[in-house]
Amino acid sequence: MSALSEFSCESCGSLVQVEAHLRTATCPYCASPAVIERPLSGGRPQPTFVLAFVLPHEAALDAARRWVRRAWFAKEAFRKAKVEALRGIYVPAYLFSAAAHADYSAQIGENYQETYTTTDSKGRTVTRTRTKTEWHTLSGRYAAYVSDVVVTASRGIQNHELEGVEPFDLRALHRYSPRLLSGWIAEEASMAAAECRQLAIDEAMAEVHQRIAKILPGDKQRGLQVSARLEDIDQELLLVPVWVLPVRWGEEQEQVVRVLVNGQSGAVFGKPPRSWVKIIALVVVILGLIIGGWLLAQHL
Ligand SMILES: [Zn+2]
Repeated sequence: MSALSEFSCESCGSLVQVEAHLRTATCPYCASPAVIERPLSGGRPQPTFVLAFVLPHEAALDAARRWVRRAWFAKEAFRKAKVEALRGIYVPAYLFSAAAHADYSAQIGENYQETYTTTDSKGRTVTRTRTKTEWHTLSGRYAAYVSDVVVTASRGIQNHELEGVEPFDLRALHRYSPRLLSGWIAEEASMAAAECRQLAIDEAMAEVHQRIAKILPGDKQRGLQVSARLEDIDQELLLVPVWVLPVRWGEEQEQVVRVLVNGQSGAVFGKPPRSWVKIIALVVVILGLIIGGWLLAQHL
């Protein structure tokens, strides 16, 4: 592996390591030119695991291009933007697991049929049935192991963006070795471990809540309250393979939309700039069709 240098981005706060020959004048995350070269900082946590790139550059570029061109409700200038500065980055993330112990309570509804008599529009007495729900309270305990929670440790990529291209196939984990990163850009864990831990705890708690909601009996459920605690927490630094494309567009190329492509599965995530003109035009067309259809029906 050739000499490494480190760049920090003034604009998004990412901390990127590149080999000397991959040196870059713009930030691979946000395309900002405000990158500053500095000596390797050291002292940051070493990754434990790496997930290798599977999807080649060409395939990732194709996926990103298709995604940009097919963003039908995006502004035209965005759909015509150049799609080329795609870079593969090993993005730092934490792999989090814990044993969850939860107490929960919820209202469980059981449906039953009730027969009743009423009078119809002609004044006759008729018998009808209706569905009613009987509610009772259920409380219980739930214990399970929550693993495979992945959260960002990168200042360059936010957690909801990473979630947008998850899941990663964790069966392909390798033990970290600097050799695996040769020829690639890698970011150091630029977020504090404690901050990432809170993100992971929030995700794990949401997962426990969802799992309990799924196992509740009855025809209906409401008011699920979960109080959970996590034990045996394990948090390992992991590098995940992501193709990152900051799409510059607009009159002065001043706007940036970041498109991510999962380096294993090819899943794409980004937020295209919405064109309200197009959305309103579509709504008008649909209303026109509905009104036209209604008028036509009146004359048949
Ligand atoms: Zn940046």
